[in-house]
Amino acid sequence: MTTIDYPELYLGGAWHRPTTADRIEVRSPATEEIIGSVPAGAPGDIDNAVAAARNAFDDPTGWATWHPKQRAEVLERLAAELESRAGETARRVTIQNGMPIWLAEQFEGGFPSILVRYFSDMMVNSAEVDTRPGMLGGTALVSRKPIGVVGAIVPWNVPQAITFLKLAPALAAGCTVVLKPAEETVLDAFLMAEAALAAGLPEGVLNVVPGGRELGAYLVEHPGIDKVSFTGSTAAGRAIAETCGRLLRPVTLELGGKSAAILLDDVDLGASMESLFAATLLNNGQICWLNTRVLAPRSRYGEVVDAITALASSLEIGDPLDPATKIGPLVSSRQRDRVEGYIAKGKAEGARLTTGGGRPALDSGWFVEPTVFADLDNTATIAREEIFGPVLSVIPFEDDEQALAIANDSDYGLGGTVWSSDIERASALASRVRSGTVGVNHYSNDPVAPFGGIKNSGMGRELGPEGLHAFQQLHTVYLPPAG
Ligand code: NAD
Repeated sequence: MTTIDYPELYLGGAWHRPTTADRIEVRSPATEEIIGSVPAGAPGDIDNAVAAARNAFDDPTGWATWHPKQRAEVLERLAAELESRAGETARRVTIQNGMPIWLAEQFEGGFPSILVRYFSDMMVNSAEVDTRPGMLGGTALVSRKPIGVVGAIVPWNVPQAITFLKLAPALAAGCTVVLKPAEETVLDAFLMAEAALAAGLPEGVLNVVPGGRELGAYLVEHPGIDKVSFTGSTAAGRAIAETCGRLLRPVTLELGGKSAAILLDDVDLGASMESLFAATLLNNGQICWLNTRVLAPRSRYGEVVDAITALASSLEIGDPLDPATKIGPLVSSRQRDRVEGYIAKGKAEGARLTTGGGRPALDSGWFVEPTVFADLDNTATIAREEIFGPVLSVIPFEDDEQALAIANDSDYGLGGTVWSSDIERASALASRVRSGTVGVNHYSNDPVAPFGGIKNSGMGRELGPEGLHAFQQLHTVYLPPAG
């Protein structure tokens, strides 16, 4: 099999030799074979990348000073270059992390160019200055400036979409960026660098240095960085927040979740199964906002357990490049170990396994069958901790108030859903769910609305105008009273 190999790093608007000979090798989670490699970034490469981004940002006639319309011309070229690579981007993500290809085409191939155009248009249409007549006789001119050099750190689970939740608004706002992709998903990031090069992004505006946790920590701490935008685990987010606290460095944190799907007693189960799949088991259970706690009314508990069990056991498992596959492998053998550890814990704590729990009979790959547990309450470890695999817990409740209390009894607060035949009833309950986002009878992150978490799920928001503001600094000029 031919592998995808890159000899150099994309820094300062061109390919450059890395400072060390170390390399990151990527394995397919389905075949377990090596599929490609890239240079492993080292602190020296981060230094070079930050210097390039710093120079680009501080240039008195550079990117940050351009009119949004000028940047929009470049960003439109970037969107077009991304679009022309959408199919290959999706394929690369699928062969690296096991995301089913039909999903990769939507999330990874399709979403980035949509986000680039969305934020670029938003910036073009933003008022440059808000002129406020002062209370003390003068006038206040309030504007939003680009926040500076951004250190962006992303995980492997939805790598391109998450990258563009940061890159699209940062670049539109006039920031420059050093991106650190996760080691598991580097081949898509290098394809994205090819798109940036072809689009003619000015020198230093975007730099890509792949590496692991230590390299990420080095970037967070780097004196040349003005803002950190991180998506990943709560543990890493906590460490990053500590560093940023000490440095008084602005930071956005998109972290883990343990969201709940509340199925009210009038839910139309038959009509909801496709949307329930998308809300609970998408991407092999490896999405932060998935509703891995399914809360079911006691009056219909058996029926819900049966329906969720039937859903999970009917999903096509196999080669993620096959468009019919609904569940691909987990990203790594380490991740499979972790998920299997939780399945063992669920059984040990007395929950009833209704389907799955094992590995499917396939020749290779880090697969875990979609797994459902019933007859447990919200105190079980598998109901409290983020598993990040295809494992659901169906928990009973007595009435709507108790359902809400269970949904809110979590260290996390990222997503959630309420399912009912009565939209008004469902949305009234949804408004009381303590999390950053909640869906009614479906869940999807619409670009127009802020996405993010509370409690251990993080702080700050991406998407919507709020996602642009995260890369801007407010600036006020006080004009004196006239005359
Ligand atoms: P992870 O935190 O181990 O790694 C994420 C990224 O951070 C990687 O690039 C990694 O190299 C880097 N990193 C790790 N420790 C670091 C540190 N101390 N300093 C700087 N960088 C560091 O997470 P993961 O296991 O790769 O990803 C899965 C996690 O991401 C899950 O918890 C999931 O819920 C979360 N996630 C959250 C969102 C969201 O929007 N809230 C979206 C996707 C994934």
